[in-house]
Amino acid sequence: QCVAVCPTGALTERDYTWKVIEALVDPTKTVVVQTAPAVRAALGESFGMEAGTLVTGKMVSALRKLGFDYVFDTDFAADLTIMEEGTELLDRLNRHLNGDKEVKLPILTSCCPGWVKFFEHQFPEMMDVPSTAKSPQQMFGSIAKSYFAKKMNKKREDLVVVSVMPCLAKKYECTREEFSVNGDPDVNVSISTRELAQLIRNANLDFAALPDDDFDQPLGESTGAGVIFGTTGGVIEAAVRTAYELHTGKHLERVDFKELRGMEGSRKATVDFDGLKLNIGIAHGLGNARKLLEEVKSGKSEFHAIEIMACPGGCIGGGGQPYHHGNVDVLKKRQRAIYEEDKGKPIRKSHENPFIQELYKEFLGKPMSDLSHELLHTHYFNRKKKAEIE
Ligand code: SF4
Repeated sequence: QCVAVCPTGALTERDYTWKVIEALVDPTKTVVVQTAPAVRAALGESFGMEAGTLVTGKMVSALRKLGFDYVFDTDFAADLTIMEEGTELLDRLNRHLNGDKEVKLPILTSCCPGWVKFFEHQFPEMMDVPSTAKSPQQMFGSIAKSYFAKKMNKKREDLVVVSVMPCLAKKYECTREEFSVNGDPDVNVSISTRELAQLIRNANLDFAALPDDDFDQPLGESTGAGVIFGTTGGVIEAAVRTAYELHTGKHLERVDFKELRGMEGSRKATVDFDGLKLNIGIAHGLGNARKLLEEVKSGKSEFHAIEIMACPGGCIGGGGQPYHHGNVDVLKKRQRAIYEEDKGKPIRKSHENPFIQELYKEFLGKPMSDLSHELLHTHYFNRKKKAEIE
C-alpha cells in the first residue's frame, strides 16, 4: 500500500480535488469521469457503511450531483483491456507452441502502474515479457479523447478526463509522457477513493440517502469480467473467460474460475483449454512478484501467463482506498462485494459487451489492429539504465 504519511517527509499524498473543481467550474470544458472497479466496493466505508457494501448506484448519483457531464465506468475499459490482452496472449501462445523461438512466455499482465514501474527498475532485461496493453485507466482516456470526442463533435482538448481510482500510483501513470498527445494527457486528473469521499463531503451530499443511478453510455457499459479486475486474480480470470472462447470456439458454461481466486500472496492454477493446459501464476504484493519473476528469469517458470498486482489483495487494497489498517477481513469483504457485482451482471464475458463490439465495428476494426496498437498499446522503459547514466 502506498505511503500516505511518510516519517521523513520525503513522500506526501497529493490532493488533486482542487483540479477537479477547477475543471467542473470551467464552462468551456466537458468533464468526463471514469470510476475503477474497486472504488464501489470501498467508498461506502468513508460514510460509515460496513466494509464491502456495494455503492455503485449511489456513487454514480454523487458524481452527477458534483457536476460531471458524463459518468462513465473504467470497467468498460477493463473489458477493452481483455480484448487486447487476451488476443495478445493467444497470439503469443500459438506462436510459441508452433516453435517460434522469438516469442517469450509467460505473458505478464500490465494494468498495475506500481508493478510496471517496479519491473522497469528491477527487471529491465525482461521488458519484452509483459503485455503491451495499456491499463484500463489509460485505455479509457485514449478512447474518450478519440472515439467519444468524435461522437460528440468535440476536440480532444475540450474534454477533461478525470479518473477515480483506488490507487495513488495512477496519479503518476497518467503523467507518463507516452500517454499524452501533443502535450494533452489522455487522463487529465486522477483522484483516489478518499479524495472522492472528500469532494462528496465538501458538497454536503448525504451519501447514504442518495438514490441509485446508472452510468452513461457508451463508455459506461461493462460486464462482470470488467468488475473483477478490482481484486487479485480477477484480471487473469477475466482474460481466461474470453481467451477460452476465442481459442476453442466453444461456449464457456462455467465462468467462475474459483481456482484463480483467493488471498494467498502467490497462487498457481491450471486451466484446461479443451486439451491445452494453461498454467497460470498470480502474485499480489511486490515481494511475491519478485519471487515469480526470479523464476521466470532463471528459465525455470512453467507458467504461460502471470497476473501481478502491487497491492495486497489487488486494487481493493490500494493505497487510495479508505484505510483498512492491515485488516484482512476488510479486504475479504471488499473482495466478496466485487464477486457479488460480477455475479449480478447479465453479461460476464468482456467480448460479449455490446458497446465494446460496437467500438470495434465503428472505430477500431479488430483487437491488435493498427489503430488498436496506436491507441491501446504502449512500451516500457529501462529505468535502471537511465538512473545509472544520470
Ligand atoms: Fe494501483 Fe495497487 Fe491496483 Fe496496482 S494493485 S493498480 S498500485 S491500487
